[in-house]
Amino acid sequence: MDLYEYQGKQYFHRFGIPTSPGGVADTVEEAVVQADQAGYPVVVKAQVKVGGRGKAGGIKLAKDPAEVRQHAGAILGLDIKGHVVKRLWIEHASDIAREYYASFTLDRPNKLHLGMLSTAGGVDIEEVAATNPEAIARLHIDPVEGLSQETARRWVDEAGLDEEARDEAATVLVRLYHCFVEGDCDLAEINPLIFTTDGRVHALDAKVTLDENAAYRHPEWEALGGSDTDDEREKMAKARGLNYIGLSGSVGIIANGAGLAMSTLDVVTQVGGSAANFLDIGGGANAAVMAAALEVINSDPAVRSIFVNIFGGITRVDEVAKGIIEALTHVEIRSPIVLRLDGTNSVEGRELLAPHLSDRLLAESTMLDGARRAVALAGQAGQ
Ligand code: GDP
Ligand code: MN
Repeated sequence: MDLYEYQGKQYFHRFGIPTSPGGVADTVEEAVVQADQAGYPVVVKAQVKVGGRGKAGGIKLAKDPAEVRQHAGAILGLDIKGHVVKRLWIEHASDIAREYYASFTLDRPNKLHLGMLSTAGGVDIEEVAATNPEAIARLHIDPVEGLSQETARRWVDEAGLDEEARDEAATVLVRLYHCFVEGDCDLAEINPLIFTTDGRVHALDAKVTLDENAAYRHPEWEALGGSDTDDEREKMAKARGLNYIGLSGSVGIIANGAGLAMSTLDVVTQVGGSAANFLDIGGGANAAVMAAALEVINSDPAVRSIFVNIFGGITRVDEVAKGIIEALTHVEIRSPIVLRLDGTNSVEGRELLAPHLSDRLLAESTMLDGARRAVALAGQAGQ
């Protein structure tokens, strides 16, 4: 789950990472109130979960309430790379002497934590990594040992941060590491980490991705609004406990198991179609789950056909078939459904479904044929 900058800064605050005083605003008037509280000059910052807000006009300095009104008015509703700005973060503006980059992520292949630190901050780090990789000081950390103040201090030396900033930067890095580990982040990134003209080091931006596998030990994450999405289909699916990701194509997909769901997407693409979603109904899919899945896919006006691809294992295909039949009595489906049912009890399952088959409910015996049929019914160029 990605956090907004303001949420990331609130998260940082819990771990003692210094940030500028500020507050959120959803309207121009709220922005003025927050600016008055933060103290002028302020920065008006678009809250969207996408980088490069500065370049897109989503970050503006304001020296008085009139400028706050002007910028807040312009930024609210602004479309930044497909994300419409609904909320602002207003904070007291900093006088920047230097902009650094700092982050912690997981280095999965090496089973270590990876810290990245650079004096080339405030710019796109992927670009720095591509054009000037030696400008990034990488530090591998053994999760069992953690990051000591001494190691952090050596790392700061290696990265070549300004002398006067080094002690404080090392302290901030150790705190950022604690935030990363104890806060169960997949990513904790500060870009830029600034050195101010009055000699302080603090986080001017915050990019935090929480590891949702750890949600069980963070009841406080509930307040962050969940893996918030603007996609109505995803909200609906989440409310029904489905593992659903909305996509832009026209073939709705229901499969059991994440692996099969992904393969189904691939095969649909391979035969010239495009999937409207990823949906894994998991093991033991019963009638209720199938009904919920069909309901969510049915709510997507872009869907032209639905491909149900089930491979029975622990899940018995006759149970799934009963689920489909029952679901069809609850939900009126706009699009034709193509079934491919294989595996445990597939013969029994197909027998159950046989009397229900029509030009709205078709059966194919292989995944490839099923995909071809679904793609053709969606009116996409099949192969
Ligand atoms: P991003 O573009 O989405 O990564 O947004 P950031 O929060 O990183 O801000 C982008 C840039 O805006 C920073 O690198 C700074 O150059 C500038 N900026 C942001 N806050 C301030 C501030 O308080 N004072 C000054 N002078 N510049 C700021
Ligand atoms: Mn940034």
